[in-house]
Amino acid sequence: MRAAVVRDFNEDLSIETVEDPSCPENGVVLEVAACGVCRSDFHGWVGGHPKVTSGSILGHEYCGTVVEAGALAKHKIGDKLIAPFILGCGDCLACKTGHSNTCESAIVPGFGAPGAYAEFVAVPFDHNLVHLPETMPEALAAGLGCRVTTAWHALTDRANVRAGEWVAVHGTGGIGLSALLLAKMLGARVVVVDVVQEKLDHALTLGADATVNAATENVPDAIREITKGGAQVSLEALGIAQTTNASVECLATLGRHVHVGMPAGDGMMEVNMRAIYSKQLAFFGTRGMPAWKYPSLLEMIERGDVDLTPMLDREVTLSGASAELRSMKGPTRPGTAVITDFSK
Ligand SMILES: [Zn+2]
Ligand SMILES: [Zn+2]
Repeated sequence: MRAAVVRDFNEDLSIETVEDPSCPENGVVLEVAACGVCRSDFHGWVGGHPKVTSGSILGHEYCGTVVEAGALAKHKIGDKLIAPFILGCGDCLACKTGHSNTCESAIVPGFGAPGAYAEFVAVPFDHNLVHLPETMPEALAAGLGCRVTTAWHALTDRANVRAGEWVAVHGTGGIGLSALLLAKMLGARVVVVDVVQEKLDHALTLGADATVNAATENVPDAIREITKGGAQVSLEALGIAQTTNASVECLATLGRHVHVGMPAGDGMMEVNMRAIYSKQLAFFGTRGMPAWKYPSLLEMIERGDVDLTPMLDREVTLSGASAELRSMKGPTRPGTAVITDFSK
């Protein structure tokens, strides 16, 4: 099969013919229809993710059609499926108590197992996968497995956002845009922060109540003024110190910080503990969403409760993924890129 392989960090992915994946007994092989290009991939591509090395195939947000099914697989050949990026084992206490996104035996294609920047991907633990609704475009569905689900879980299960609350969203990439759209659906008021004015203007057209340009404004001050005292919930979607501090500093007393952005390297960063201490903040880490929450989220999307189409900006080829990763070194365009052409 054709795959985009990491050979040297920071260099174009190498388009190679590699061996087709063998089918796991407890899972399936998907012919990949679409795979999102995510900032987590960028962290791997620059050498900042311990599980991405030379020879790795990235790609953790994908959908596709089953072309091979193992003896113990739950799905069958021909099924069109979306995968949550964290594939829980289904057997451990975390999985059995509904927290499969914290499963210690979880497998994440793209990080430690070959991912979906390829024509085919092997997916073990296929009980995690869900059927792709007929009405949902594949390119849009690809982004659901990572960004939308992560944002949804962060807002609902971690921060428990309530109608009328102010939610600050730091960073308007895939996670940030999803968080904006989903928080609005929940009845919250949303202020978004970015350094690219075009992305802030875009966010306003998508329903953001206010924006703050971090390149020209003091973010915590601006948010405290907009929200008249601070946001109740603040979601950090970049994984860097600057936005983490802006997030805890912009919160009202007893506010909830939700940390979504994957910290690069060893994860050490300087954080304003006085803000956390003196305002008695809650600080939530979060990663992914348990697979069982998928069907209800998909139904809301299908019913039209939330329109996620603005998330998808452009469809690219497999070899075009390199340019998308490279572009993340600087300010990026609004919306996200999805690989939908695996022929070149
Ligand atoms: Zn992702
Ligand atoms: Zn498990």
